[in-house]
Amino acid sequence: MALYVHKYGGTSMGSVERIQNVARRVAKWHQAGHQVVVVPSAMSGETNRLLGMAREIQKNPDPRELDMLASTGEQVSVALLSMALQELGVAARSYAGWQVPIRTDSAFNKARIQSIDDARVRADLDANKVVIITGFQGVDDQNNITTLGRGGSDTSAVAVAAAMGAVECLIYTDVDGVYTTDPRVVPEARRMNVISFEEMLEMASLGSKVLQIRSVEFAGRYRMPTRVLSSLTDPTGSLAEEMASGTLITFEEDEKMETAAVSGIAFSRDEAKLTLLAVPDKPGIAHSILGPIAAANIDVDVIVQNQSVAGTTDFSFTVNRAEYNRAVEVLTKEVQPAVGAREVVTDDKVCKVSIVGIGMRSHVGIASLMFQTLSQEGINIQMISTSEIKTSVIIADKYMELAVRALHKAFGLDQPGGSL
Ligand code: ADP
Ligand code: ASP
Ligand code: MG
Repeated sequence: MALYVHKYGGTSMGSVERIQNVARRVAKWHQAGHQVVVVPSAMSGETNRLLGMAREIQKNPDPRELDMLASTGEQVSVALLSMALQELGVAARSYAGWQVPIRTDSAFNKARIQSIDDARVRADLDANKVVIITGFQGVDDQNNITTLGRGGSDTSAVAVAAAMGAVECLIYTDVDGVYTTDPRVVPEARRMNVISFEEMLEMASLGSKVLQIRSVEFAGRYRMPTRVLSSLTDPTGSLAEEMASGTLITFEEDEKMETAAVSGIAFSRDEAKLTLLAVPDKPGIAHSILGPIAAANIDVDVIVQNQSVAGTTDFSFTVNRAEYNRAVEVLTKEVQPAVGAREVVTDDKVCKVSIVGIGMRSHVGIASLMFQTLSQEGINIQMISTSEIKTSVIIADKYMELAVRALHKAFGLDQPGGSL
């Protein structure tokens, strides 16, 4: 008997009818003789609704209380799904994260899973029950409820699958797999049958919200086969077809993958840029600027320091837009007076567009085609960052969709058979 973990996202759980469809699908797997653990998200819009109410009451809500609140969305989902399964004659049992327990650290709102005790879950599975566990949440060693960050149910599912040695973790969502880019932005985007773990990790970290980055990290660490597939197909359709559908994250790279220079395009609007103009250029300058930023717990992404002219230089970096206001404050109040920069210039209307592909290792001229394509569209590149399998640019965010569409075409991603 093989164990599978299913994860269903917010849209898939979005109404009573959809929950009943999820139950039909799970029942089909169970009746085929498989053990199934289901990890659902809150119904779509619910987490936003809860967080919105919190912000109406407190401008900067207490992180612990936010987790107490946000975790309730998933508790509703597991109970309703369990009832829907029981109605179909399938024995089912739901658990909140703390009941399993799924142990995390105490970093409220962005907790990390540390361990999962699977004894209760196993006993239920052995008694032929379907087990349903809340996504997105856990419990710390003081018994406080924690949550794993937005999109965290993906991570709960992969972590449960890894802890229990499941055959595969299936991430059911509102698209039928991982595409060359977000199909809502580029209708010509194509679904990939497989994507390498490394590419998926880059895509997720560069903004493709189809999987939370930590879920991909877990999949990599435990080599957990993970598949992204549609929850919106006929739930009573062929099981064999469903098992082979969607996009599988693979850990083996084959030659076919290497032949495509670029596999996908990721983008993120969650960016903001800060620049210090005319900073005296001397050793230690990067440290005196970024030290206070790090001390304020703000993550820095792309960094550029210009050639110095007449003993001064300009220094720019990007941060997540959610941390922009705090970063501006640290720069103007602490850093500028300390380093003697002439001016602080900031811009929260920027975005990051990235091309990703393991084939970039063996192809030259890929970045240059990217820059040429953007220049043909009249898009100014403000910053560039590269690694072995990706090139990212920071541009004005009003050009984001134009840039993504132009690059998707330039790299031939809309053509069957892949990129250049
Ligand atoms: P869920 O609620 O199921 O977790 P999400 O909204 O978190 O769903 O993720 C699915 C969404 O991810 C899709 O609707 C799609 O718009 C978006 N997305 C972004 N990039 C990609 C991509 N490369 N391939 C597929 N979907 C993508
Ligand atoms: N409900 C949570 C969120 O909206 C977790 C998830 O959906 O993965 O972020
Ligand atoms: Mg999601």
